[in-house]
Amino acid sequence: KTHAQHIIELDKAHFTHPWTVFDVFNDEGALPIAKAEGIYITDSQGKRYLDAVGGLWCTNIGLGREEMADTLAEQCRKMAYANPFVDMTNEPATLLAAKLAELAPGDIDHCIFTCGGSTAVDSAYRLIQYYQNCRGKHEKKHIISRKNAYHGSTYLSMSIGGKAGDHPPEFDFIDDFIHHLSCPNFYRAPEGLSEQAYLQTLVEEFEQTITRIGPDKVAAFFAEPIMGAGGVIVPPNGYHRAMADVCQRHDILYVADEVVTAFGRLGEWFASEELFDVTPDIITCAKGITSGYQPLGACLYSDRIHQVISEAGHERCFAHGFTYSGHPIACAAALKNIEIIEREKLLDNARDIGPYFQQQMQTLTDLPIVGEVRGQGLMVCVENVADKNSKQLFPEALDIGKRISDHCEELGLIIRPIVHLNVMSPPLTITREEVDFIVRTLRQAILRATDDLVK
Ligand code: PLP
Repeated sequence: KTHAQHIIELDKAHFTHPWTVFDVFNDEGALPIAKAEGIYITDSQGKRYLDAVGGLWCTNIGLGREEMADTLAEQCRKMAYANPFVDMTNEPATLLAAKLAELAPGDIDHCIFTCGGSTAVDSAYRLIQYYQNCRGKHEKKHIISRKNAYHGSTYLSMSIGGKAGDHPPEFDFIDDFIHHLSCPNFYRAPEGLSEQAYLQTLVEEFEQTITRIGPDKVAAFFAEPIMGAGGVIVPPNGYHRAMADVCQRHDILYVADEVVTAFGRLGEWFASEELFDVTPDIITCAKGITSGYQPLGACLYSDRIHQVISEAGHERCFAHGFTYSGHPIACAAALKNIEIIEREKLLDNARDIGPYFQQQMQTLTDLPIVGEVRGQGLMVCVENVADKNSKQLFPEALDIGKRISDHCEELGLIIRPIVHLNVMSPPLTITREEVDFIVRTLRQAILRATDDLVK
């Protein structure tokens, strides 16, 4: 037995991966990855792949950087851990909170550090409840989110999410104060509706939902600027601005979940204000904040919220936090990561390559099973369909997304299947040649998968 086989067996026996399908009979085991450098990963057999998923939407500066290794080692030697309670702090956490305040839009000047994106979303909701209580609005605790949204995997964040597959009946997800609007997916909009008319229906649905719940009961609207795991859904033009206007009219907080879209994925530090003309009250982020070198998330919130809470003189402390809030190694990693993005002008690269990536990906729409290619910046999705005219999907059992990603893997390219979709979010360092490789390889993989279907 080779060492690689040994690892695969141990893994199957003991490591329950996220989103495991418990199918012992068909389980080939996971591909052991031994090394990661820049945009490339290498498996334990020495085969190299271009990782177009960027880990899991997160390796924004690319992996394997010596400078990052040195930073982590140095912080580890100096002080690997620091108690984050209110009477102690550590410099990397303080400096990072200040840096995030500088980069975030509007008066978003305050930061709650968390362990990742899900806990950032949980923290946002706890903060919202506390804030509404400070204002004497004890009933204002309902959340409105969208179908197909992904906000994380804790009980609360997954309840806020709206992916049908994530809400199987065996789990008691929270549904008494969380409401889901339609997914703003123009590709699946009713036939014959213009984009503007479609947007109008979405805004009306929001208004009607608020009226049904009662404006005094709705605390916050949660939205990813571009839905990620829900299939890179770029909303109709003007959607976020219109939804934010509705929020403002009804005293509802606008929470932008920028776990995927921040730190350069769309060519900006944060996408909300620059690209969608919205200054959120709260931004949740994670992933690209450290480019995956350390687990870290943050719930960033406005000075207005901070003022209201501070002035309320609440007799109870905001009982919320984690052992690893503001972890010094994670925060040092984030500071260095941000420094690298600035120094290497990686936002400029994302702004330059993003449109090229999107254009080249569009060339795949001539393939018979490619229904739509959509995306923005360095986020892209291919929607595979059985029939382009009716947009009918393949039966789920055919696992078309996985078939295509398996062919890609054979050809040295990692993409992510999500049922009938394939998504990508490469590092911001990506070059035109790497884009060309992705598009060429994906074309070949889609053709192979199409051939499999007729066999
Ligand atoms: N929010 C969004 C938009 C995400 O895409 C994700 C993860 O993919 C999360 C939250 C959860 O982040 P984490 O997996 O770090 O908890």
